Amino acid sequence: MPRKLAPGQKLVLASHNAGKLREIEALLRPLGIEVISAGALGLPEPAEDAPDFAGNARIKALAAATASGLPALSDDSGFCVAALDGAPGVLSARWAGPAKDFAAAMAAVNDRIGANPDRRAWFVAALCLAWPDGHAETFLGRIDGTVVWPPRGNRGFGYDPMFVPEGGQQTFGEMGADEKHAVSHRARAFAQVLTSCFG
Ligand code: IMP
Repeated sequence: MPRKLAPGQKLVLASHNAGKLREIEALLRPLGIEVISAGALGLPEPAEDAPDFAGNARIKALAAATASGLPALSDDSGFCVAALDGAPGVLSARWAGPAKDFAAAMAAVNDRIGANPDRRAWFVAALCLAWPDGHAETFLGRIDGTVVWPPRGNRGFGYDPMFVPEGGQQTFGEMGADEKHAVSHRARAFAQVLTSCFG
């Protein structure tokens, strides 16, 4: 049975990623939900050892909800390249290493694609809303597109500069936040959160 969040409810954003926090806060802003980040509460980052996005999102949301005593919303997401059998996928953050060097991660993706003419790629986001009693609901969003090289734009985060969504010309790195939210994997998953939990 889907659970609703009441207006004015405090919600923990179970992410330590500044780019994701910025985007999720913007998506939540119109709803009158008070948000606080896991980082601001000093919550630890749990090990993300599930094999898929939904499993990792669930781990993060349940850890934050249990530790804080508040409902928590997590995001597990990544960049998938057809020519690399879906990699970097759930390991998208790890490809950038401890220094979070996404210029290097994008270069590694481009090197591995090499001369392969298959340029298809997609982003996936799993959003999980969990409550302190262990109830959890997960929503998936995906946007398909193509890989471009060299990277273009500095407005997004992560792999944004090397991805052009289907039907577009600009990379996610060149788009403003509103343009990215009109089509992004995160916004598509969020639309389902809205219908299910805020409707
Ligand atoms: P995780 O969900 O914390 O494992 O990290 C996901 C990683 O995927 C991020 O650090 C980014 O590298 C990448 N990623 C997820 N969503 C996006 C996006 O919207 N744009 C660019 N990169 C993203």
